[in-house]
Amino acid sequence: MRYQMGGVRLTCPCCQNDTFNKDYRQLNSRGATFFGLDWANKEAAILICKRCSYISWFMEDPSEV
Ligand SMILES: [Zn+2]
Repeated sequence: MRYQMGGVRLTCPCCQNDTFNKDYRQLNSRGATFFGLDWANKEAAILICKRCSYISWFMEDPSEV
């Protein structure tokens, strides 16, 4: 799939590929909880480049193009 964020088409910073697999990961870690960050238990969206497997992290959910 191809994705966009804020009206911008997302491309891989490593290989410029524009197809990704989307997944989600919990952001909570011991350090984040200690500092009381409000996103400590939030899920981040990740896009895994289909070509080079580079992972991009997003606080908001990228929408499919
Ligand atoms: Zn890539």
